[in-house]
Amino acid sequence: MTFDSKEERYFYYNSLAILLKAVENERTTIDLRNEASVYGTIEHADAYMNIVMRDCVFTDPRGHSYSYTMFFVQARNIRFVHIPPKSILRYNTSDKLKFFTHFRIPTNLKYFNTTASITPSTQVNMSVFKFLDYDCIGFDLDNTLLHYNVTNMVHLIYETVANYLVTERGYDSKYLLKPLEDKDIDFIQKGLFLDFERGNILKINANGIIQRACHGTNLLSIEKIKEIYPEQRWEATDAFCNDMLSTWNGPLSMKMRSLLDYFDISSSLIFARLIDAFDKEQGGPLDEYNIWPDMLDGLIEMFNRDHFKIDKGHFFPSLRENPDKYMYKCSARTITWLQELKKHCITFLITGSNVDFADFTATYALGEDWKSLFDIIICYAKKPAFFTEKRPFFNIVNKEEGNIIESKDLKRGGIYSQGNWKELTEFLENISGRQNPRYLYVGDNLLQDIYVPNSYVQCDTVAIIEEQMSEGMVHQKLSHPDEKVLNSTLWGSYFCLKDSKVNMNSLWGHVIKKYSKLCIPEIDLIAQQPLEKSYLCFNEEKYNGYYPAVPLTIKEQLQRLVGHKRDLTRTKRTFKTKRAEQKQQEGLAAVEKILENRKKRDQRLNENKTD
Ligand SMILES: [Mg+2]
Repeated sequence: MTFDSKEERYFYYNSLAILLKAVENERTTIDLRNEASVYGTIEHADAYMNIVMRDCVFTDPRGHSYSYTMFFVQARNIRFVHIPPKSILRYNTSDKLKFFTHFRIPTNLKYFNTTASITPSTQVNMSVFKFLDYDCIGFDLDNTLLHYNVTNMVHLIYETVANYLVTERGYDSKYLLKPLEDKDIDFIQKGLFLDFERGNILKINANGIIQRACHGTNLLSIEKIKEIYPEQRWEATDAFCNDMLSTWNGPLSMKMRSLLDYFDISSSLIFARLIDAFDKEQGGPLDEYNIWPDMLDGLIEMFNRDHFKIDKGHFFPSLRENPDKYMYKCSARTITWLQELKKHCITFLITGSNVDFADFTATYALGEDWKSLFDIIICYAKKPAFFTEKRPFFNIVNKEEGNIIESKDLKRGGIYSQGNWKELTEFLENISGRQNPRYLYVGDNLLQDIYVPNSYVQCDTVAIIEEQMSEGMVHQKLSHPDEKVLNSTLWGSYFCLKDSKVNMNSLWGHVIKKYSKLCIPEIDLIAQQPLEKSYLCFNEEKYNGYYPAVPLTIKEQLQRLVGHKRDLTRTKRTFKTKRAEQKQQEGLAAVEKILENRKKRDQRLNENKTD
């Protein structure tokens, strides 16, 4: 370690500046005070904590990323420097003692001595995600590998359930069977909650606060929300935020339902129209409604797995008769990407669809040879219980569930029904030939595919969220064919709450950031990139994990947060701006000095070689 002056030496030994010395030549992330961040290699850190970085990516508060060969970070702009654990761990014990004595930091050597306590996930750079870092990669099928025409699907499901309620349960057709107009479609959004008893539909933020609510189809004011839900909270949504599985079964599942994917989002409109009908009939809101059990029966009847085989009902026959209307074919590029991925790691599919329906949809989307894309396929998996319970695996015979099969008898290239994660991973570990392989699961349902795998079985996840494309992304011209259904002006952005004064995640924006590594609108965008590509992933307060870019709505929030609406170019040059410019000049001079020193050093090395 060399010091330029006595003063600098004093600072090194009497401040945390010396910690930065430990990360020189390491790749890490520096968070800046204006919500921007820089990821790259620390070239030099001086005693005042000014840092020069090389080969870095600067991400501004709006999520735009830029590459720089050299980047100067002034100390006053730094909020955090992420210290990679290995920077500390590479010192031996006596070095650590000296290190921390110099730093004047309370030392817990026991912690730093136990390399075994470092879990596998902390041994890789947590700011960067790479598919090839994983040994076993699993996929969900519906809305992950296979995309549906959401517009036609929403209409089909609405018609099927509404007709069931009218014909089988005697509900009035006047409200339920009204044609779906634009305002009705706008009422539908993924991620809403139904309060069965009160007849309300809710949208909540990351802290469980009810930010928007409708009674039937009528929007409630904030005052009204506070009147119904003290402090804008409800015990059922609080329990859901605390543990999303707590309301899956048991008494709370009788009070509320979260509408998590395109197969049940039509339910919000059916529910609201029925509430409107009751209120109209009774001349005002009722104390309690009891329509959910009938709606649930309609949904169960529609998705009954036996109905596909016998072509019963409206849902399955419609799909079978007209697959082009309801499904999109997977691109050849995505299929090639899956084939390439399988050459590098174990791939598996876990779908909730029964084997015959999965075979029908996967053949349509991925081709006749779809089974060859995976090392093992699990159908009718009953997620999220697949990850938390221990149901047995069943053989498949002639596209039907056969006998129970012991997990030790699972075969590579096989297709099975039900089963559980624990025994599946024992099988995957076995065929991968690795101890403690790293698992990744890719899916669209934020509860079943993201939250539960990540928090219950510590599996890393990638979220496929089509709203990212339908809401538009920064500097991206991509659009979604079903954006009218996916977006909602009534409920606002899927990712964040636009009408707040500060940046506020919606519950789903929070779940994506907390429980997934990466959020992408469709696999095809990843399939355009080489397998070995690294992606910046989510960490604490950052939105880095959105690929290819953050949704526009988040950008607007961030702009509001950092006050970018002011046009800085027109601002009068104050003492503060002049000083900032002077510091900037100093920074550039520091970079030049480093480059010059480097040049001299190289020259010296060359001279020594020739001597
Ligand atoms: Mg799915």
